[in-house]
Amino acid sequence: MARTIEIEDTVTVGTLAERLSLPVTRLIGELMKNGIMATVNERIDFDTAQIIVGELNGLDIELVRKAKDEPEGVASRSSRKNSTAEDAEDRPPVVAVMGHVDHGKTSLLDSMLSLSVAKGEAGGITQHISAYQMAHKDRKITFLDTPGHEAFAAIREHGARLTDLVVLVVAADDGIKPQTLEAIRYARKAGVKIIVAANKIDKEGADVNRLKQQLSEQNLLVEEWGGDTVVQEVSAKTKQGIPELLDMILLVADVEELKARTNAPASGLIIEARVEQGRGPIANALVEEGVLKKGDFVVAGGTYARVRNLETTTGTVIDTAGPSTPVMMTGFKAAPEFGDQFVAVANEKEARTLAATNAENRKSRSGLDMNSSELIRMINRGNKLTELNIIVKADVQGSLTSVIDSLKTLDTDEVAVRVVASGVGPVSENDVQLANTTGAIIYGFNVTLPGNVRQLANRDKISIRMYNVIYELLDDVKEGLSELLSDEIIETEVGRLIIRGIFKTTKTEVICGGEVTKGKATAPAFVRVSRGNEVLSEEVEVVGLKSGPTDVKEIQEGEMCGVNLRTAARLDLAEGDRLEFFTRQTVQRSL
Ligand code: GDP
Repeated sequence: MARTIEIEDTVTVGTLAERLSLPVTRLIGELMKNGIMATVNERIDFDTAQIIVGELNGLDIELVRKAKDEPEGVASRSSRKNSTAEDAEDRPPVVAVMGHVDHGKTSLLDSMLSLSVAKGEAGGITQHISAYQMAHKDRKITFLDTPGHEAFAAIREHGARLTDLVVLVVAADDGIKPQTLEAIRYARKAGVKIIVAANKIDKEGADVNRLKQQLSEQNLLVEEWGGDTVVQEVSAKTKQGIPELLDMILLVADVEELKARTNAPASGLIIEARVEQGRGPIANALVEEGVLKKGDFVVAGGTYARVRNLETTTGTVIDTAGPSTPVMMTGFKAAPEFGDQFVAVANEKEARTLAATNAENRKSRSGLDMNSSELIRMINRGNKLTELNIIVKADVQGSLTSVIDSLKTLDTDEVAVRVVASGVGPVSENDVQLANTTGAIIYGFNVTLPGNVRQLANRDKISIRMYNVIYELLDDVKEGLSELLSDEIIETEVGRLIIRGIFKTTKTEVICGGEVTKGKATAPAFVRVSRGNEVLSEEVEVVGLKSGPTDVKEIQEGEMCGVNLRTAARLDLAEGDRLEFFTRQTVQRSL
């Protein structure tokens, strides 16, 4: 019968693993397989937990929700989103496209953008960018692409907070999945409206009714069943329903009366940052308030810029960018971090001072970043710890942070990952040189490996591993860590024998005969030798067994045999001494 476990509405990964009596790494691995990146201390909700538990083979466990004391609170809307100031002006909606991996987020974005009048723009959307603006019926819509495949919960959470509306992409042939639930949760937390895009309706197994049913179980009741959730049937492939989806987005946005001030200092959020050779740090940002101009001084976290180039995210040069506009800007002294708020200031002096203050605040905070369990683990490790040196390069700051955070979860008391260097941008010759001096493996995540760097690495025999999927990268690191674990030696007792006669004893050899009293005697094997209560030798090697004149590999209980032992020193055995046979296996442990 299934064991029942009660959990709250949300539960930390660590607690859930404990309740399930599972190693936390197994649970984290299972979550990753479902596209959810969560560390030990992060919370997952009941529904996600239930799906994961259902997918864990061999666990006969039923989760039940603990009764709630309080009604479910809906987070209040961010006041920043809708300015009520008198001078506020209408602004385009910011829409996040979210959903489970492979349900068609990218395809849907592509097909929406392909309808846009902006399609003549340079650059196109062949490369991954995190925000786009398009026009539909002469009105602008800003889309945020929240990476699904890489499964970065942090980015997705930011995505929801930034937005006015979430388009929840659900493949109609697959239905609601863990990341769908995650997106619903984020949208609720951020208090934003959800429009459901029932995608892939061109496919054979598409079942929109089943999807509506599943949505109602999540308290998303569709309009025809008396609720207010909009479900638009679409096919990113055939473009059926796409114009209607865009209409719907504008309609829902209208109800929200989205406004922002344009005469305030420009401010917004950094959504991506990278360093490009020849161009220096490049940041993608979303302007939330004010108008950002080329030449402005902006501060983001511990760094600042005089905006040198201002472009749309598809590469059109612009001079100004108002609220809800995604932009690309250059001119930063160092790459800002994903999630940093940016703000325009009056002059360079102000920019420098504010950036320095921010950097100082960050430094004093980071010393406290380690939590107590990590600290205890470090203390316990003492000298036993073996470390795997690695260098991590990633495409954007957000993914770099996620990769490094996830790597920390792989540490054990015996082995740990040591990130000797990390950065945003392609793998470089510098990285290879550093790997050479530190013996590190280089991991590239969503980045390129230039030919000259590859050659240098080949010459120096440096291992570079490139990944686009985070859990595959983690699996690889895990394998590397496993190799560092000392081998485990397993001893298995196979049988006992009582000595009935001694035939020959030299400094290196004993040949004796006896009767197997339990289990069996085997060769090759080892024996423990005892006389009465005294152990004469803990370990002697058995090199041969004879049944009569014949060499054999094993002798069963109750039979007589000859035993040939190889000894390190002379071992004088006597009739009545006992031999305990055991075998020894060396097993490579894994994490
Ligand atoms: P994402 O991981 O959510 O961004 O999903 P993708 O956009 O990469 O799509 C995953 C797969 O589903 C791809 O092979 C797409 O070609 C396919 N796909 C996406 N939308 C549709 C659709 O409307 N119909 C069909 N038949 N396939 C689709």
